[in-house]
Amino acid sequence: MYLKQIDVVGFKSFADKTKIVLVPGVTGVVGPNGSGKSNIADAIRWVLGEQSVRNLRGSKMEDVIFAGSDLRRPTNLCEVSLTLDNEDRHLPVVFDEVTVTRRVFRSGESEYFINRQPCRLKDIHELFMDTGLGREAYSIIGQGKIEEMLSTRPEDRRGPFEDAAGIVKFKHRRREAKRNLDETEANLVRVEDILAELE
Ligand code: ATP
Repeated sequence: MYLKQIDVVGFKSFADKTKIVLVPGVTGVVGPNGSGKSNIADAIRWVLGEQSVRNLRGSKMEDVIFAGSDLRRPTNLCEVSLTLDNEDRHLPVVFDEVTVTRRVFRSGESEYFINRQPCRLKDIHELFMDTGLGREAYSIIGQGKIEEMLSTRPEDRRGPFEDAAGIVKFKHRRREAKRNLDETEANLVRVEDILAELE
């Protein structure tokens, strides 16, 4: 699996439709300070489902939408798509190519797509779980991240290792199963109460 293409429109400094084509191997992005290099990493993080504005270097989610300049009006929405080559089936779907898209409107409405089909944020999280590319995975090492990993508590540091070991999806399923069990237990108690009342 490798990242083939990034399509951005209206995201941070990318007011115009911008297509970044990548090839296997190492790609470097160079440019003057403030030209938008880190905004590319933010765009990748965002489309993978990042919900924390702090991690996107903003103060509110609207900050990811192009805010306008001396020459241009602000845009009302932004959209980012990542296209991944999946010939090796690293992602657990049958497609050779997978495109994930996130779109947000200034009104706050948010949309997600996998291969142009509307989906939920949960589907995006599940698609990337244990692939190293998820929202909290280790594929994006931001400025200060290494220092953070070295200084935080061992429990906090475990996340990336669990993702690399491929156990995140099992932990996630266990949490879901536990929630369903709790709900079922609560329903049973209610049924017992109703039966007791009827007797
Ligand atoms: P450096 O080399 O200093 O780290 P960089 O190339 O990584 O810089 P970025 O941090 O990616 O630059 O981009 C910063 C630029 O993005 C700033 O000029 C900022 O005004 C612009 N920017 C950020 N958010 C928005 C937005 N919502 N609308 C318009 N421009 C934005």
